[in-house]
Amino acid sequence: MALAARLIKMHAKRFAIHNLSPKMIEKLRTLKDADFAGKRVLLRADLNVPVKDGVIQDDTRLQAVLPTLRQLLDADARVVIMTHFGRPKGIAVPELKVDAIGAALSDLLGKEVRKLDDCIGAEVEAAALEMEAGDVVLLENTRFHAEEKANDDEFSKQLAALGEVYVNDAFGTIHRAHASTVGVAKLLPAYAGLLVEREIEVLGGLLQNAAKPVCLVMGGAKIDTKIGILQKFLERADYFLIGGALANTFLAAEGYNVGKSLYQEDKLDVAREFLLAAESKREFVYLPTDTIVADEVSADAESLDVLIDAVSGEMKMLDIGKLTAETFVKSIREAGTIIWNGPMGLYEFPQFGGGTKAVAEAIAESNAVSVVGGGDSIDAINNLGIAHEKFTHISTGGGAMLEFLEGKMLPGVEVLLAE
Ligand code: ADP
Ligand code: MG
Repeated sequence: MALAARLIKMHAKRFAIHNLSPKMIEKLRTLKDADFAGKRVLLRADLNVPVKDGVIQDDTRLQAVLPTLRQLLDADARVVIMTHFGRPKGIAVPELKVDAIGAALSDLLGKEVRKLDDCIGAEVEAAALEMEAGDVVLLENTRFHAEEKANDDEFSKQLAALGEVYVNDAFGTIHRAHASTVGVAKLLPAYAGLLVEREIEVLGGLLQNAAKPVCLVMGGAKIDTKIGILQKFLERADYFLIGGALANTFLAAEGYNVGKSLYQEDKLDVAREFLLAAESKREFVYLPTDTIVADEVSADAESLDVLIDAVSGEMKMLDIGKLTAETFVKSIREAGTIIWNGPMGLYEFPQFGGGTKAVAEAIAESNAVSVVGGGDSIDAINNLGIAHEKFTHISTGGGAMLEFLEGKMLPGVEVLLAE
C-alpha cells in the first residue's frame, strides 16, 4: 500500500476510535468536583521511594504528591495518607515501616506529618477522628496486611472508616486492584488527585489523537510486559525502535545467533507473531543492525561494536551499536510523538550506556510530544543529568503506563469514573 493510502487508512481508524468512546478524562472525577473543606480525606499516595541503608535515594515520589496534598490542606481538609512500601508480603517488617518516609514528607511539606503505628484498628480510628483541619497523618505500610493485596472487604471497610472522601494520587499502583486502590474507592466518594489526573490526560491523549508520525521506542529486559503495548500500537505507531535485551528476543526469533545474550527463549513465538503482524500491516520495526558485545558484564569488560550477524559463541549483546543508534536518532528526530520505555542496553555500565544516552538525548532535544515511563528509563535520564522539563511527560507509573497505553481499563481508574 502506498504511504498516503496507509496514512488515510490509519486516520480513518483513529477517527472511529475517537467517536466510539468519550474521552476518559471527561469522565474522571477530580479534585475540582468536590468540596473538601473541613473533610477527612483518605489519600492513597505512592510513597514507595528507593531506600538504601535506611537513606532515601530519590524523593521524586514524595515531591509528586505535594500539589495534591497542598490543595487539600489549603481547603482545610484533614488528610489521612495511605501508602505501600516495598514488599513485606502481608506481615509487619521493621525495615519497611514508613517512619522515615513520613519525616521526609514532613520536611518537604513544611508541616508535621504524624505517623501512626498501623493502618487499621481502634487506635488508628481514634487518631483519625481527633484530627483538626489542616492536620496530616500517615498510616503504616498498608502491605503489612495481606488483606491489602487481596482487596479484602472487611479490611477496606476499616480503611474507609478513616475518611469521609477518598482521593487516589498513586498512579504507580493504579493497575492493581488492592483494598487501598479499589476497595475503599467503592465505599467512599472517590476522586483522582492531580497527579493521576495529569497522567490520564496525557496518556489518554496519546490514545485519542497523537501527532504523527508516532514513534515507539522500546527497550529493557523482558518482552512479557512490553508485548501488549507493541501489539496495541500496531494500529497507532509509525515506527517501532526496539533495543535492549528485548531486541535480543526479537533477533533470536528472526533466527540470528545471539550468543550468550540475555533473551527470552520461551517468548520467541510471541516475538515472531508480532513481527509477522507488523510486516502484514507494513509497519516499520527497527531492530538493531549492530550491537555492542562483551564476553562478560563488569566495569572493566572490553566491548566491541559488531554487526548483528557476527554475534556468536560467548558474546553477549549489551547495547545497540553506533549505526543502530544513528538510525534510531534519525527516526526520533522525524517523529511527532515519541513514547519511550526501557533502556537500549545495560546502561548501568558506561560501556553499554551509549545507546540509551543517544536515544535519551535525541528525545530530550526533539520538539515532538514525548512521554517516558519505567523506573530504569527514568533512572538513566537522571544519571545523564537530563532535565525532566525536556520531556512532555515523565510518567510515575512504569507498569501502569504500559497497561494504560495497551488500552486496558485499569481497576483503580475505573472506580474514579463518573457513571
Ligand atoms: P524500565 O524500568 O525502564 O521499564 P526494564 O525494567 O524493562 O526498564 O529494563 C531495564 C533493565 O534492562 C536494566 O537493568 C538494563 O540493564 C537491562 N538491559 C537492557 N538491555 C540489556 C541487554 N542487552 N542485556 C542485559 N540487560 C539489559
Ligand atoms: Mg525496571
